[in-house]
Amino acid sequence: MLKSDSDSGRPASSGLSGKRALVTGSTSGIGLAIARALHNEGAHVILNGLGDPDEIAALTQEMDATFNGANLLDPAAIESMMGDIGPIDILINNAGMQHVAPVEEFPTDKWEAIIALNLTAAFHTTRFAVSAMKEAGWGRIINTASAHSLTASPFKSAYNASKHGIVGFTKTVALELAQTGVTANCISPGYVWTPLIEGQIPDTMEARGLTRDEVINDVLLAKQPTKKFVQPAEIGALAVFLCREEAGNVTGANWSIDGGWTAE
Ligand code: NAD
Repeated sequence: MLKSDSDSGRPASSGLSGKRALVTGSTSGIGLAIARALHNEGAHVILNGLGDPDEIAALTQEMDATFNGANLLDPAAIESMMGDIGPIDILINNAGMQHVAPVEEFPTDKWEAIIALNLTAAFHTTRFAVSAMKEAGWGRIINTASAHSLTASPFKSAYNASKHGIVGFTKTVALELAQTGVTANCISPGYVWTPLIEGQIPDTMEARGLTRDEVINDVLLAKQPTKKFVQPAEIGALAVFLCREEAGNVTGANWSIDGGWTAE
């Protein structure tokens, strides 16, 4: 049961009250920031992701949220999750993973997993979510893509393919739902300091023969004219905007939040 605004610590003006939002991959990083931003706007958040059970319990309590720990690599687990959580108004497909290796050495199991999590999982959650959104005449689907949906970097073949793919998927869903009150958009961050970025530093050091500082300054921030990592909370704020009534005509778009990376 949702508690009152005063109990849940959110601001009194709650633009998304009454809305139910599933945020995949919300136990960490960008998804967690989006979940917190939607909660602060009054939505009831359904968290999903992997991680330490005690930390997840604390997040669930913090946001007065529901948690579903479905492993999104498994389509059957996605189907059960979507059945268990019931109709949702807002779907944020955010869970994602990365692996960095030259294409001729790219482990085929990593390729399969990255496509399954970053692309195919969004197809499954979307196909189960849209009927209720259409019936309600309102819905928001937001897919976390990446600057790598618009441009490529070497050694990220699976990731770049998955992120280019999610944009095509999102545009298709946007067109199919254009007259239903349901919008579908991508958010494409540049480099955001999260565990996903931290985790790829050792492999990038090895693939490119660089030190840790060289990877951070000469590979990662070299891409961003602002020379700053994007902050997870900035992405949360953009997601909130895309959920607002004022964004009802924003659909099929791919919103960059990348410090100017893809402007070059
Ligand atoms: P993160 O590693 O901090 O979080 C990933 C989330 O996905 C976690 O909650 C994790 O538990 C969950 N997850 C991983 N495997 C899962 C599985 N099999 N089933 C269910 N959940 C699973 O990463 P992040 O940086 O916050 O990335 C979130 C999204 O943002 C990803 O789609 C990523 O590609 C994208 N992105 C990140 C950056 C960046 O710089 N960090 C840039 C552009 C796009």
